Amino acid sequence: MQTVITDSPEEAAHYLNEGGIVAFPTETVYGLGAAICHPEAIERIFTAKGRPGDNPLIVHIADPGDLMKVASHISSDAKKLVLHFFPGPLTLVLKKNSSVPDSVTAGLDTVGVRCPSNSDANAFLKLCRCPVAAPSANRSGRPSSTKWSAVLEDLEGKVDCILRGKPSDIGLESTIVDCSGETPLLLRTGAVTIEKLQAVVPSIRTADSLRQHEPPRCPGLKYPHYAPDARVVLLDTGERIDPVTERNSAYIGLSLPAAERLALVKQCHNVDEYARVLFDFFRLCDSRNISIIYCQLPPAEGLGRAICDRLTRAASGH
Ligand code: AMP
Ligand code: MG
Repeated sequence: MQTVITDSPEEAAHYLNEGGIVAFPTETVYGLGAAICHPEAIERIFTAKGRPGDNPLIVHIADPGDLMKVASHISSDAKKLVLHFFPGPLTLVLKKNSSVPDSVTAGLDTVGVRCPSNSDANAFLKLCRCPVAAPSANRSGRPSSTKWSAVLEDLEGKVDCILRGKPSDIGLESTIVDCSGETPLLLRTGAVTIEKLQAVVPSIRTADSLRQHEPPRCPGLKYPHYAPDARVVLLDTGERIDPVTERNSAYIGLSLPAAERLALVKQCHNVDEYARVLFDFFRLCDSRNISIIYCQLPPAEGLGRAICDRLTRAASGH
């Protein structure tokens, strides 16, 4: 199959409305979309990505007013979160309605919904005839794509169309909050931080506070996400870069590393830049056959908490 690359939301939406699968930019990472009214296209997303079928997809809508196209109930806490954070990098898990096929939700009775703020995503979604199920546009297990060129690298010949846009502003996947139960629960950290969420809904809990015997509420988090081929080593206070492997190693962090012969060094000026460039840096390291990527952990607050989460997953991915 030939993958068409276009700058036109109209052309991208045409492929999607015809039952194709289309990658598109968002402010978090690039998504790989299929219309929820085309179940055979949903199946193709899992095949193209090599994604396990028990890992549900997030449904994307053009307007917060479209929520009831996929949800059957919106709690009062969920309404507050919608008012404050939609459109934006927040996914809400809500009770689903019957228009959402089981293949999208992996058989769960809930659906993850997001309304992106990125203008290309919004223009594209407005032209799509039904809501768009879209996981991140990368091969399963690889770092999420934050540039259209990364989508092409992973999925050329497997998707019908790529809507070419700017690199993703945020660079990390959306925050996920489960609002399907009595108390909202933070399932995945992201740019809508726990501090921002608690300012709107003080009762929100984090998944760590769940009792051990409760089943995982976010199926995707049990898979080794976000991992480059290189080994990821976390640099906390006191950790050292191994001088023997230095020449074939890379470093990313907020301060400069205590090593001079590293093959690649990226110093980020703040956590926003760290989040924005992290996955692209992982991919660059893989293209240069780097064997170890040393990653400095930022302070675990605000966006730094989401970076620490992704780094910890990448480090345990192998
Ligand atoms: P991705 O779009 O690749 O970042 O993956 C979507 C993430 O959202 C995965 O970790 C899924 O497990 C999670 N997710 C999607 N729908 C639901 C849902 N209904 N309940 C809990 N987690 C969900
Ligand atoms: Mg993903």
